[in-house]
Amino acid sequence: MMDLQAILDGIHAELLPRLGEGKVADYIPELAKVDPRQFGLAIATVDGQVHRVGDAEAPFSIQSISKVFMLTLALGKVGEQLWTRVGREPSGSAFNSIVQLEHESGIPRNPFINAGAIAISDVVLSGHAPREAIGELLRFVRYLADDDAVTIDEKVARSETQTGFRNFALANFMRSYGNLDHPVEHVLGVYFHQCALSMNCIQLAKAGLYLAARGSNPATGHSVVSPKRARRINALMLTCGHYDGSGDFAYHVGLPGKSGVGGGIMAVAPGIASIAAWSPGLNKVGNSQLGAVALEMLAARTGWSVFGD
Ligand code: GLN
Repeated sequence: MMDLQAILDGIHAELLPRLGEGKVADYIPELAKVDPRQFGLAIATVDGQVHRVGDAEAPFSIQSISKVFMLTLALGKVGEQLWTRVGREPSGSAFNSIVQLEHESGIPRNPFINAGAIAISDVVLSGHAPREAIGELLRFVRYLADDDAVTIDEKVARSETQTGFRNFALANFMRSYGNLDHPVEHVLGVYFHQCALSMNCIQLAKAGLYLAARGSNPATGHSVVSPKRARRINALMLTCGHYDGSGDFAYHVGLPGKSGVGGGIMAVAPGIASIAAWSPGLNKVGNSQLGAVALEMLAARTGWSVFGD
């Protein structure tokens, strides 16, 4: 039996002198205030253990990691039809890039870049008022994490609403191509609130368990998606979860993962565990610098990889 706690403690000790590396996301004023010298790591295993180290109980803004949960909801709503609205290919460009959208007639490359996630918010919004769609997501994430303490940080949502000019541009552009059914303000209301979900590493690791365990949360017995759908969401996380850093993350870590500009990364070791790493300093492509280093160390020390042992 591997001593996972000792592995986490070792990674934490090694990274302590490096805390503060990277640059916090300052284009969202509320995120610019976060202390960069924080680091948390948590693992929830499919056999029910939870291990943690560092600031694993400090809530942070999960930002784009929410795109995995929204994709899961949207697939539950409209099934494979979703893929008429959004593609499944890596973009090779920044998370908030607009260039491909015109060439590809308003159909975003994948569900994890901003444009794709905004189209997915539109799908989840259908049949609801924005407030209800946000409520549906919050209930879903609380159910996944089995924790009603998960909240939405209204200050972060407001901060992004006031400064999200690029996201407004992306949404308006897609609306002009007929790829949004609802008013841009409503769709972005949902999108900004999903990004403002506030969770800690333990909650996030638990929320990802369904992806590690064939679509069901083994801790609660909750069935979330079919095994096939869980595999497919993992495939998208591996190929698109880190934007134009996805190849590098697969090369170094070798696990499906999804990053957010709050500095969080949720990663999945299929059949074994769900992992959440958090450190607010970002690298050049907007992924957590030390979060990725911690996951690389973890993968190396446990031998976890989707590419073989
Ligand atoms: N809310 C952020 C944005 O739309 C999400 C980006 C991210 O986490 N990569 O810019």
